[in-house]
Amino acid sequence: MSVVTLALSKGRIFAETLPLLARSGVVPAEDPESSRKLVIGTNRADIRLAIVRATDTPTYVQHGAADLGIAGKDVLLEHGGAGLYQPLDLGIARCRLCVAVRAGFDYARATRPGARLAVATKYVASAREFFSGKGVHVDLIKLYGSMELAPLLGLADAIVDLVSSGGTLRANHLVEVEEIMPISARLIVNPASLKTKQALLDPLIQAFRPLSA
Ligand code: ATP
Ligand code: MG
Repeated sequence: MSVVTLALSKGRIFAETLPLLARSGVVPAEDPESSRKLVIGTNRADIRLAIVRATDTPTYVQHGAADLGIAGKDVLLEHGGAGLYQPLDLGIARCRLCVAVRAGFDYARATRPGARLAVATKYVASAREFFSGKGVHVDLIKLYGSMELAPLLGLADAIVDLVSSGGTLRANHLVEVEEIMPISARLIVNPASLKTKQALLDPLIQAFRPLSA
């Protein structure tokens, strides 16, 4: 029997995917938040879930280790999307990619011609593309988490990070100065799997389609 593997990260992606899976009658056998298992079965013998780090989802799908996955657009932009079929924007895990600085920092001055802006971010590719499109010179500093700390300690003038409520920015005396783009999670599929496991994948992909579309 052919088995389909869906790669998902814990947290908001998993939580917001559950109702979409339920629409096709798929129910995980365990809760990854409490289980230590990384491969989780479902009520369907032919569908299993792989619990991966959010940034690793495209890698598993690209190499066919997972047949499909759900990843934020932020993650896909950094990955580059090579070897991935991206049929659907699922509209879940919504937030926005933003530039933020310390309250009172003169962003206009730091981004005018001849100036340089030090930017700390996990999203180096997206940040580079955004600032180069504006003709702003930047020094990019790669971080892996808690970007809000960087301007507070003087590591950088600005951060590029995901924002939803803005609560974390406010708590750290940062202000959003530009929105780079809205972000939501996409379905990604391995193109070879799409051919070899079409009978299993087609109905799943259909069930993920937004109800309005
Ligand atoms: P970790 O938090 O474990 O370091 P991560 O930040 O990559 O890893 P999550 O926080 O679970 O993982 O985020 C997964 C995805 O959810 C992100 O890639 C993004 O698309 C989306 N996301 C991240 N932060 C937010 C947010 N504040 N609001 C809504 N969606 C978000
Ligand atoms: Mg996170």
